[in-house]
Order: sequence, then C-alpha cells, then structure tokens
Amino acid sequence: MRIFAALVLACGFLAAAPAKIDSNSARLKKAYRKAPQSGWIFVHLEGSAGDIGYQHGYLLANEIADTERAVKLSITHDSKDWQFFRGAAESVLWPHVEAEYRAELQGIVAGIQAKGVKLDLWDIVAMNAWLELSPYYTNFVDSGVHRSTGDHCSAFVATGSYTKDGRPVIAHNNWTDYMTGSRWNIIFDIVPERGNHFMMDGMPGLIHSGDDFGINSQGIMITETTITAFHGFDPDGVPEFVRARKAMQYSASIDDFARIMKDGNNGGYANDWLVADRKTGEIASLELGLKHVNLWRTKDGYFAGSNFPIDPALAKDETDFDVHDMSNSANARHARWDQLMAENKGQIDVALGQRFLADHYDSYEKKIVPSERTLCGHVEMSVRGSKPWQPPFGTAGAVENKVADAAMAEQMSFTAAMGHACGIHFKAAKHLKEHPEFAWEKGVLKDLDSHAWTTFQAAK
Ligand SMILES: [Zn+2]
Repeated sequence: MRIFAALVLACGFLAAAPAKIDSNSARLKKAYRKAPQSGWIFVHLEGSAGDIGYQHGYLLANEIADTERAVKLSITHDSKDWQFFRGAAESVLWPHVEAEYRAELQGIVAGIQAKGVKLDLWDIVAMNAWLELSPYYTNFVDSGVHRSTGDHCSAFVATGSYTKDGRPVIAHNNWTDYMTGSRWNIIFDIVPERGNHFMMDGMPGLIHSGDDFGINSQGIMITETTITAFHGFDPDGVPEFVRARKAMQYSASIDDFARIMKDGNNGGYANDWLVADRKTGEIASLELGLKHVNLWRTKDGYFAGSNFPIDPALAKDETDFDVHDMSNSANARHARWDQLMAENKGQIDVALGQRFLADHYDSYEKKIVPSERTLCGHVEMSVRGSKPWQPPFGTAGAVENKVADAAMAEQMSFTAAMGHACGIHFKAAKHLKEHPEFAWEKGVLKDLDSHAWTTFQAAK
C-alpha cells in the first residue's frame, strides 16, 4: 500500500513536472531578453495580454523587485505609507482598469512569483500608477494640499521647414529623481495580440512607458512633458497609466491618440503630449488638463515641452505655476528651446536632437552652466535645487534620453542614451558624502553613469 502510494506520488510528480515546464515554456516561447547594452536592457514580449505580462514579470523579476524598493522609497518619503498606495491601487484605480490590462498586470504577478519574487497585484498596480498616485491622488485626498508635481522632462517634436528632411523628429529626456531614474532603463519591444507593434522605453514592472516615449507600427511617435504645479484628480476616471499604454498600442492617427487620452481622463500625471504621425508629417501638442484640454497641430513647425503650461486658462485654473518667473526651470528651458529651434531651423535631425538634449545653456543667466534650468537637467549641481520639487543639490535631473526621426520610426527603431546626454556621471557615494541630508536615500540611490547613444531596433 505504502509502495503503491509512493509510486502514485512519484508518477504524479513526474507527470506534473514536465507539464508545468511545458506550459511555462509555451508562455515564454516568443519572448527574450538581450544582454545589457549601454546601460539598457532590451526585452521582446509577444502574445496575449496575460502572456505578455507573464513574460515581462519572468524576464525582469529581479529588476522589478529592485525597482519596487526605489519607487516605494521615492513616493513614501514625506508622504503616505506604501499600504496607502496599495489600497488606492485596489479600491480607486483597479475598478477602472480594463480587462486587457488587468490580464497583463496579473500576468506580471504570475511571472515574478514564478521566479520567487514576493510582490502581489496591488504592489504592481501601485508601481504602475506611482506617477499619478503621488502627488495627484494624495493631493486630492488631502484636499487643499498642493505637493509638488515636479519638473519632469525636456522634449520637442518638429516637422516641415524646421527639420532637415521635412519629416518629423522627436526627442525627449526624462527628468526624475536618480533613485527611480537609474532604473528607468528598459527598452520594451511589444507585439500584442491586439493593436499595434510598439517599442518604448520604460521601467521594470510597468505596462506603460512612464516617461512616455515610444513609436508604433502605425507610424505614431509619442512623448510628453509634465505640466508643473498641476492640481486636480478624478477618482472616477481611468488611470493615466492605462490610457497612456492604450494610446501607445492602439493609435493609428493623432485623432486616435487624442481620443484615447481624453476618454475617461482622470487628471493624473497631467502632461503636455507631443505626438507625430510619420505617415502624414503632422505633429501635435495635446495639453491634457482636467478642466482644460487643448489640441494644437501643424505640418510645419515645432512644439517644445519643458513642463510649462501653455493655455493661460489652464495655467490659472489648474496650476500654481508662475508664468512670468523666467528664472524658473520650466520657463528658462522653454526660452532655450525657442532659441535652439530658431537657430537650427531647417537643420534639425537626430544628431541635433541628441545635441539639444545635452545642452547646458542657462537662458536666464545667459551662460553655460549645468543646473535645473538647462535642458540637460542637473538639480544635483544646483545651489537653488528645483523648488518646490527638489531642495538644493537634490538627487534629480535628466536620467535618460531618446531621439527618433521618421525614417528610424519607419524601421521601428530609435536611438537612446542612458544617463545624462552630456556625459557627466552621477556618483551616489560621493554625493551622499558631500550632502548628508540625502542619507535617507542610502542603499537605494545608485550611480547614474552616462552612456553613448545606442540605436535599438524592434524585432522584425
Ligand atoms: Zn548634462
């Protein structure tokens, strides 16, 4: 009897084990991860929503666990605890996440758990929404409190007589704190069962880009910069991370893009979106406030982004932003974009886009000195910091860069540089020694080394 039971158990085990491996390998079959290249990790994900999520979680399990620590420390410092954000993920956001993305998020959880990472669905949803939960949602909960939304990013999109070949060129550098920014180093190449093939930069564990740079196979090229000092949030809306991902995956035109972003707009992570359609040569700026939404478009011109509000009514009703203070980072960088666009009209291409993102000209002081006022942002070198977002010498600024022109986008490729585009490295230990006020970041703050521009190509 005993022997029989042991045999049954053994046979059961033998029968079950290969089946498990088969189902794992079937889910992972079309996915792969390349060796790190210039600070980036390229992953290819393909299949149903659940499989894409599983592949993502499985291939990037360690990076997701590491990123969760950084996101958690970043958004809980001087704010709410992680349990608060997990609770909001479950009760406020999840009811508005559509089935396709629920399946993908659940797939990520299954993938990381298969690799032994002990995070659950609410950790992953909170991570996906970290840019809208803090401070948009926390400000909504603590009504009347306007915590800083931060100065995230410098970007432009240009076309027509501004570019060398007359077709769109798009460029973006991501500004964030260096704890999270040093981990924003994934190139996601995703072939979903539904919608378009797309390639974007992103963070481990996030189903959207987060800093929102990407291209898709229908010719749509996307980026954004955040609207500084914005307030407003609608808990009954669709999370921004869902709309941003959906727009990347499903847009075939600028109209599609604007429609998807506006549909269920919750005001979270309010951005000025810069979009190009390489098929038509048209570019657009979608300034997506909660009360005020504007779409400007042209086939001959440029739109620059550096976190300034554009529409005076939006600036007045939905931000605490001082449009007249030219020493402010957003305004100073806006002035610099206008200078660079005028000086280089007719010449703008990928190489110039790369150069602009490394620019250290301070338009306020009229001299070259890297700081929070320069397109290549270095808050860590500024005695002013970037108030109210960052204190003097705050560990934040530009963390990574991407540029594409229409010809590259046609080939499903773009060029990217991890770290500051200027080549200046950020060294965590040295900075913490010189500025012990940031000791709370110790153990999570990493070096942010600068790497050469590298071209990434989606799978054919
Ligand atoms: Zn720089």
